[in-house]
Amino acid sequence: MTEKIRMTADGLFVPNHPVIPYIEGDGVGQDIWKVAQPLIDRAVAIAYDGERAIQWQEVLAGKKSFEKTGQWLPAETLAAIKDSLVAIKGPLETPVGEGIRSLNVALRQELDLYACVRPIRYFKGVPSPLKNPEKTDITIFRENTEDIYAGIEWETGTPRVQKVIDFLREEMQVEKIRFPETSSIGIKPISIEGSQRLIRSAIEYALKNGKKKVTLVHKGNIQKFTEGGFRKWGYELAQKEYADVLESGNLVINDIIADNFLQQILLKPEAFDVVALTNLNGDYASDALAAQVGGIGISPGANINYKTGHAIFEATHGTAPDIAGQNKANPTSLLLSACMLLDYLSWEKAAHLLRNAIADAFAQQEMTADLANLLDDCPALSTSSFSEKLLEKLDALK
Ligand code: ATP
Repeated sequence: MTEKIRMTADGLFVPNHPVIPYIEGDGVGQDIWKVAQPLIDRAVAIAYDGERAIQWQEVLAGKKSFEKTGQWLPAETLAAIKDSLVAIKGPLETPVGEGIRSLNVALRQELDLYACVRPIRYFKGVPSPLKNPEKTDITIFRENTEDIYAGIEWETGTPRVQKVIDFLREEMQVEKIRFPETSSIGIKPISIEGSQRLIRSAIEYALKNGKKKVTLVHKGNIQKFTEGGFRKWGYELAQKEYADVLESGNLVINDIIADNFLQQILLKPEAFDVVALTNLNGDYASDALAAQVGGIGISPGANINYKTGHAIFEATHGTAPDIAGQNKANPTSLLLSACMLLDYLSWEKAAHLLRNAIADAFAQQEMTADLANLLDDCPALSTSSFSEKLLEKLDALK
């Protein structure tokens, strides 16, 4: 029987055998999905004694889809994800010159997945450039729908940019465009609604996960009304909707200028729990923080609309064509994203088992080449041997 995840007035309803669409992805996507799916299934089976299981439904996107259907992002794929609410995906190849800027952006926009969530934590044994990487335990909430990613810009030398520049100079009395003859112009929309729904999600996450502090990261010293607005509306929201938790001391809201934030995550990462950022700042901070704890092959991510319940969990790295099909890729980013998915379904026990198996493997220096090659005397495991180790550990944790 088909069982669907639904959004109800009380939150997400998750049946015991939910249908969950997956996009295998391109390049290393195929290498990592192949091992990830059995691991997720095993963790769920062990955690719930076989009473729960995911019904995986393959949906197509990316190059694999283009080769099979002539479309990079078929309408059926979007419809299936819309209908099932929750999906997981590997990395996708970006079509060149097909009128789609990025499939990831298209998926986020179609489903209005406004929160990009990236938990950044350190696993013992993983090579890191920091002396005390274990001090980094930060969850990023990056706004996903506004800012310069709205893609509103005009190129220098075109009649359109001239029209914008003339409007700014003549009607808005803007005199500060340094080189009006040769400027391109971009627009950065940041709204009260967009900022507050993201910051609300960050606060809710903090409260649910026993984290006390939510830090608003912004560049409001320079961009007073956009970045400064994000900060101001964040404090206003907290005062209005969370006054009692603030009063009790169980929630602390503070803020920091983005450039200082990038210093402090290196100097004093323990000062942050949950951070909320505008889109572009969130982009920089996500990669910098991921690098602190082991980088690209192990960082999980999700794009979520907490109101509708739509959520796509994803490996955050690219298609890595240099190692695709060689049984070398690290599946951890996808696996930890699957753990986020299981948490989202409130199947925390399964998530916990899988995370513990991964933590155990890393602590015993069992890792794929991307990590092993950064250590002395650490032989690299193939994707399949690494996943076999994880399966053994899951069975041992039973
Ligand atoms: P794309 O164009 O899809 O973004 P890319 O190669 O430019 O692909 P990434 O795929 O993010 O960008 O890869 C950057 C580097 O990190 C590559 O050397 C790649 O091999 C490595 N890498 C990425 N993902 C993994 C992974 N899961 N396991 C091991 N190495 C990885």
